[in-house]
Amino acid sequence: MSNRSDSARVESTKSFSEPSLSMENADGHHHESTPSQLSPSQACQYCDPEGEQHSCHESAGESGYCFWHDENASKDGPDVKEKLEAFAKDGGQLRGIIVKRADLRDVNLVKHGPGGGYDLSYANFYRSNMTSAHLFNAKFDHGSLMKADLHDANVHCASFINCNLLGVKLTDTKIDNIKVGHTLQQEAEGKIAERAKDMEKALDLYEQSEEIYRDLRKASEAHGIFTMAGYFLQKELTMRRCQMPYFSTQRAMSKTVDLFCGYGESPIRVIFFSLVLILISAILYFVTGIQYAGDPVGYSSELGMGGNAQAFAECLYYSVVTFTTLGYGDYIPVGMSRLVAATEAFTGSFTIALFVVVFVKKMTR
Ligand SMILES: [Zn+2]
Repeated sequence: MSNRSDSARVESTKSFSEPSLSMENADGHHHESTPSQLSPSQACQYCDPEGEQHSCHESAGESGYCFWHDENASKDGPDVKEKLEAFAKDGGQLRGIIVKRADLRDVNLVKHGPGGGYDLSYANFYRSNMTSAHLFNAKFDHGSLMKADLHDANVHCASFINCNLLGVKLTDTKIDNIKVGHTLQQEAEGKIAERAKDMEKALDLYEQSEEIYRDLRKASEAHGIFTMAGYFLQKELTMRRCQMPYFSTQRAMSKTVDLFCGYGESPIRVIFFSLVLILISAILYFVTGIQYAGDPVGYSSELGMGGNAQAFAECLYYSVVTFTTLGYGDYIPVGMSRLVAATEAFTGSFTIALFVVVFVKKMTR
């Protein structure tokens, strides 16, 4: 890790905690209308980004926030784990809690009964020690687990959509069926920065995304979840491509490999590519013309709709025969179509070999 990216990462943690501070003002008045046993001055001022139904009913300290939502309340005490478990069990508001640098070893945050696991959306567990934690089905959406230690933890079925997963330790973590969403937090931010032409920021964010996907891939591989590992590998290589300079051979190659076979993870893309190649070649034969027993076959304005359709079907047949390098010899290419045929035959045999490799790789896992 370079110094440059390290300092940028510290900044991004800072900006992560900013929204909760800036909401203090917006929150001040609406609590008066909330029906609650506590007077407005006593209730925690936590304001959930998704609205009032997620407000916190804990009594507030001097800062205006309860212990869990107060960013400045230290969570490094020895009994924080027990307190958090009790808070969760009593139905406390777990959304948006700030539990940085806490000792949460063996913490049990598994909610039994209907309605899914605990909702820890927008929660911040920066650098918390969550070794051997039980977090089955928990929801960490939009939150942060930056540099948290999830060694040996069980996050089976947990949701991490738009969650900051940078530097999270995933050794021996049970990550089956986790949900990370289509794009990572850093990935989405990187795209925004790229659109705003802030390339330095974008490159750093893409680099972080690559790192996160690599960690996720390694963790899935370690548990033999190869379908998930394959998906993360594809994302990891895509993130690496995003860091390459535009219009470089390297980037073009990477994009081509992705399109052809999804970095070796998608046999269906090879089939799709084959069909497109066969169709395009058939159109080219139809335009340039081929021969059957000395008679030209191809587009002709003299033939009607039916005649041209018949000619195209013959070109399609010739295209399949060339793609598979069968070469019956009933139809032959002439003129320019010989160039098309040579290219198609070469690409075809290569594509079939590629399909076998990708397919076997997928199936033998
Ligand atoms: Zn609160």
